[in-house]
Amino acid sequence: MAGTVHIIGAGVAGLATALKLSARGVNVVVHEATAFAGGRCRSYYDASVGMTIDNGNHLLLSGNRAALGYLRDIGAENRLVGPQAAEFSFVDLASRERWMLRFNDGPVPFWVFDRSRRVPGTRPLDYLPLARLLWSRPEKSIGEVIACNGTLYQRLVEPLLLAALNIDPPLGSVRLAAAVVRETLAAGGRACRPLIAREGLGSTLIEPALAHLRERGAAVRMEHQLRGLRFSGDRVEALDFGGETVALAADDAVVLAVPPYAAASLVSGLRVPTEFRAIVNAHFRIERAAGQPPILGVLNGTVQWLFAFPGRLSVTVSAGDRLIDAPREELAKTIWAEVASITGLPAALPPWQIVRERRATFAATPAQDAKRPGAATAWRNLVIAGDWTDTGLPATIEGAIRSGNRAAEFLSRQS
Ligand SMILES: Cc1cc2nc3c(=O)[nH]c(=O)nc-3n(C[C@H](O)[C@H](O)[C@H](O)COP(=O)(O)OP(=O)(O)OC[C@H]3O[C@@H](n4cnc5c(N)ncnc54)[C@H](O)[C@@H]3O)c2cc1C
Repeated sequence: MAGTVHIIGAGVAGLATALKLSARGVNVVVHEATAFAGGRCRSYYDASVGMTIDNGNHLLLSGNRAALGYLRDIGAENRLVGPQAAEFSFVDLASRERWMLRFNDGPVPFWVFDRSRRVPGTRPLDYLPLARLLWSRPEKSIGEVIACNGTLYQRLVEPLLLAALNIDPPLGSVRLAAAVVRETLAAGGRACRPLIAREGLGSTLIEPALAHLRERGAAVRMEHQLRGLRFSGDRVEALDFGGETVALAADDAVVLAVPPYAAASLVSGLRVPTEFRAIVNAHFRIERAAGQPPILGVLNGTVQWLFAFPGRLSVTVSAGDRLIDAPREELAKTIWAEVASITGLPAALPPWQIVRERRATFAATPAQDAKRPGAATAWRNLVIAGDWTDTGLPATIEGAIRSGNRAAEFLSRQS
């Protein structure tokens, strides 16, 4: 492809597109509305805790092949860290029980038959409903296909699907749940090792990507918000950035890698998901307790996952819409009380920050999932990317990167 590709949005989807195209020698310009790259996956200096933190804890799994490929491309693969095996520690705040779920490496789920590896209080037959998710009609909701109660549901299915789909699981899409199960549990422990960006999302996923793009001569223009697209026949002929209009040559193209509400305001008639779910994160400036695992699943509390980073503990609450308007300090205290009781750390509230992302992901219901468009549009030089496009996955880094790779592939095939 000889022309320039203008990529709108420097989230991971836009960056993935830019990396793939620039690696093929395509001239790329990335335009980002804000002063920082990374979108919903970013680090920033936070004065309340006096350190650089992430907007939210992001968990990847060793089976996230596109995300790992992206990290290899930018030389940052070793910045994701996790245990050698697929192990997940849990604590139940109601019963005070603690256990570790340990998947075996291969795809045959021997762990289900091993009392010391499976979820306590469950029997092998309890795991059959997970297979039902794979065989059921994809347009159904999870609550229509499996019983959302019982020990296995509460201790494995709910935490897994709540984290992966960011929705109360009974309302979630079977198609998306099946994709998660297929790419994780059904693929075996080798695909389920939890991985986190211990030094932060920015220095792991974003800054090395920007450095690579700049090395390849790609331009990245910050605070350069696209205000409008000018269409002519079957193509986009110009980009309107407010004070500046960029006319497109015949072989130039545009990749719109912005959130769905931004895409809908730029392209009238575009069908996009319109409902969202929040994610709430609480960050505390404190070292982890002795023996505290780096990642801990928490049941029957406000806290759902507790992550330990150097000098900081961070809590994730998915589908956290009920907490969006809760008074911040009260919320910090409630969450810290749970963390202190789990870890044995002092009850006094350490320096804290609450980050609430209202529109963290599109609502992963069957109806919203059905509204996700593919990469192609009615205009031959306009392509769409983003975690909300039809990747077959929930809104995740993996999905966002696959959408970016797909957009790059689509444009390369056209040339
Ligand atoms: C708190 C939180 C926790 C999460 N946890 C996980 C997790 O554990 N694991 C996981 O895999 N995923 C997680 N996710 C989801 C993950 O962050 C997203 O799927 C991913 O970052 C989406 O990337 P994107 O590039 O598609 O979109 P975005 O990150 O939204 O990027 C879009 C970019 O476009 C820019 N933009 C918008 N309008 C314009 C315009 N007109 N002109 C120019 N630029 C524009 C925006 O500023 C933004 O930078 C989480 C998300 C949140 C918010």
